[in-house]
Amino acid sequence: MPFSSLGLSAEVTRAVTEKGYTEPTPVQRQAIPVILEGRDIMAGAQTGTGKTAGFTLPLLHRLHATVPGGGRRAVRALILTPTRELAAQVAESVQTYGRHVPLKSAVIFGGVSINPQIAALRRGVDILVATPGRLLDHVSQRTLDLSQVEILVLDEADRMLDMGFIRDIRKILALLPKKRQNLLFSATYSEEIRTLADDLLDNPALIEV
Ligand code: AMP
Repeated sequence: MPFSSLGLSAEVTRAVTEKGYTEPTPVQRQAIPVILEGRDIMAGAQTGTGKTAGFTLPLLHRLHATVPGGGRRAVRALILTPTRELAAQVAESVQTYGRHVPLKSAVIFGGVSINPQIAALRRGVDILVATPGRLLDHVSQRTLDLSQVEILVLDEADRMLDMGFIRDIRKILALLPKKRQNLLFSATYSEEIRTLADDLLDNPALIEV
């Protein structure tokens, strides 16, 4: 099955072709059409399955398809990851796959100076990749507005819970608009993940690879 049959825009498909991918991976084949429909998903997918493109490609398509009027950029997609390494990797994928789409992205994580991140947020960001702790630092410094988020991704949600981020995640969820699309990726399923999924997801499509 070629990428072109998944329903992605020409701009997004072009970036994938330039990256040299010929076929979607199983998680991409299952997740992309469902995400394009606007549904919530719960996906069991390990690293190495192509899960990053699985959520990034349809996310770029959806944001690009409905650019709001008024000109001012706002964070419309929020991708949370457990570690700064993963945040940096995901941000790089967003850049690569979004190279033909006029959307701006930024990444924020702890352990580095907050000032360049504040400057990036001020310049305007559509897609934000972040670790939970530093995200909340920005919220408390009022350098970040999450009131326009349309799509939330929790990447490696099981690792986020293992690292003790559940309270931070719940604080972040409380700051987001109620009406939004939620994409939860986890390599494993614990009781805690199921509880989070029950609270977070509305009639999710279940994807297993
Ligand atoms: P991930 O599971 O998202 O960490 O991706 C694992 C690796 O697979 C990354 O190096 C991607 O560049 C690569 N990849 C993702 N999708 C595809 C695809 N459809 N075809 C070939 N490689 C891919």
